[in-house]
Amino acid sequence: MSSAPPPAATGERPHAVCLPFPAQGHITPMLKLAKILHGRGFDVTFVNTEYNHRRLVRSRGAAAVAGLPGSFRFAAIPDGLPASDADATQDPASISHATKHHCPPHFRRLLAAAAPVACVVADGLMSFAVDAAREIGVPCALFWTASACGYMGYRNFRPLIDRGIIPLKEEEQLTNGFMEMAVDWAPGMSKHMRLKDFPSFLRTTDPNDVLMTFQLGEVERAESASAVIVNSFDALERAALDAMRAIIPAVYTIGPLGPVAEEAAVPAGGGPPLDAISCSLWREDPTCLAWLDGREKPRSVVYVNFGSVTVMTGEELAEFAWGFAGSGYDFLWVVRPDVVRGDTASASALPPGFAEATRGRGLLASWCDQEAVLRHGAVGLFLTHSGWNSTVESLCAGVPMLCWPFFAEQQTNCRYACVEDEWGVAMEVGDDVRRDAVAARIREAMGGGEGTKGREMRRRAEEWKEAAVRATAESVANLESLIGDVLLSGK
Ligand code: UDP
Repeated sequence: MSSAPPPAATGERPHAVCLPFPAQGHITPMLKLAKILHGRGFDVTFVNTEYNHRRLVRSRGAAAVAGLPGSFRFAAIPDGLPASDADATQDPASISHATKHHCPPHFRRLLAAAAPVACVVADGLMSFAVDAAREIGVPCALFWTASACGYMGYRNFRPLIDRGIIPLKEEEQLTNGFMEMAVDWAPGMSKHMRLKDFPSFLRTTDPNDVLMTFQLGEVERAESASAVIVNSFDALERAALDAMRAIIPAVYTIGPLGPVAEEAAVPAGGGPPLDAISCSLWREDPTCLAWLDGREKPRSVVYVNFGSVTVMTGEELAEFAWGFAGSGYDFLWVVRPDVVRGDTASASALPPGFAEATRGRGLLASWCDQEAVLRHGAVGLFLTHSGWNSTVESLCAGVPMLCWPFFAEQQTNCRYACVEDEWGVAMEVGDDVRRDAVAARIREAMGGGEGTKGREMRRRAEEWKEAAVRATAESVANLESLIGDVLLSGK
């Protein structure tokens, strides 16, 4: 698709322009919200980057995109990075820099051509959309697609800078125990935070580090938006959400988006179904669910997936592999083609002998319908990188977790998931992946014996699943206020 503007809206229904940050973990929740808005009577223009739009068409087939109702359109703008046909996640620092500096004029042109526009809903990392919306006189809600504790984690970079703690004085502080420092004073955060549990972008000695300055700038600009939307709910993140509300005038929690989208938000007759639209940038492997159906025992499978951005070394992949082999449990392992750093056929990096050692009890796939997998009764544990969508999807499915956070606010999500005073549903693998530790952790988490850690994690996960369902009604009410008070307010 070219960067040509979408066909003009009809003007009969209010027109929302949705702008996700160009990464899978941002596109997925924005698409859920866009579908809800469509169901609530909006015309929607969903703006991907050209690179991601091409990948979307490849993964779903052009027909799925072409066969949409006229009231839901995809448009695309360039991201400013060199053109590529690769099916790989773009480097986070490059894409953050590129979107901020390259996308604004393209987005402005798109907005002008897409008139009439009632509102803009943009990712919290695309805050330039606030100014673009203001210029055409419409409200702009920023959708923070990560956790509220992650948001506050970034906001606390400022007091950490003011206290001279970050940027780090020297690289050695990453390994000499400095990161273990307790930070029990940070507004809105758990008292159990250590420096290493804050978003990983503070792990730098460079005061101008691209990711640190980009994230801090974006979270601080949230205050200028008409509203901030969060895919979370009060029972889960009360302190962080209260802290956000103390800074930002209008915060709307509409999570967890899964149950909200499916059960309550779209009234009957609220527009043609959009089931065919999924924004998976990789083609889903259809064998996963059938394989899970074939498992005899409920909660007997370890599901392993590190999301769309995580990369690891070949050695780490091998340690995980032998850990799964040694655990004795069945496993479904999604090995994204580019999960091994610098290798676009990562599954081929699996160690010799692994397939034989695990024959009959393991399935490898390259991408799956994760929400469906997590809801499957055969899944008993999720080994995750603690991305926010994955965390929420796991909580909604009542599945406990083993965490191996990679970057960004995943470290913070991991801490909250593990600490008993917070969510209490997880254990950490540890930064240094060792096969024996992986196997031991899996056995501990899967073991259901009386009084064990695994049993307690499972109980807490079940409680969060119920809490997520209970939060649905409140989130739907918030959604209605968001639409009435902000998106259709004309200001
Ligand atoms: N996902 C998926 N299939 C996969 C892996 C991931 O559908 O095989 C989805 C997952 O359900 C989630 C998103 O991709 O909604 C990943 O977002 P998350 O915030 O967990 O992590 P990120 O990819 O941003 O690191």
